[in-house]
Amino acid sequence: MDSICKCNNCEGVFVDTNPQVGAKFFDLGSMFIQELEGHSCPNCGVDDYLSDMNSLDEASFFWNILGDIPVNEEDEIEEKFLNFEIGTDKFEIWHWFEEKFDLSVAKDLMNLE
Ligand SMILES: [Zn+2]
Repeated sequence: MDSICKCNNCEGVFVDTNPQVGAKFFDLGSMFIQELEGHSCPNCGVDDYLSDMNSLDEASFFWNILGDIPVNEEDEIEEKFLNFEIGTDKFEIWHWFEEKFDLSVAKDLMNLE
């Protein structure tokens, strides 16, 4: 899981689209500037501040995005989230977080014990 990196200068988040790293997996659509070409930030052009996000930072990043996605009374998402289609059960996505990032949604992302 090192396909996401962050520019600490402009706060831009980028997907390294090397297909071998599973860029397709992160089909982020228009949510981000999708591509990181070369070694400088496509946003601000600076290369000194790019850093890979660690697993928990990545998880938190996506968790925040998920937090903005409306959910209906059946707990199904009403907008596309990454590769999850509209109508996906919210808890299925929570499960994905736990599998993918090897953490506990309740403990690590919601700060519940
Ligand atoms: Zn930048």
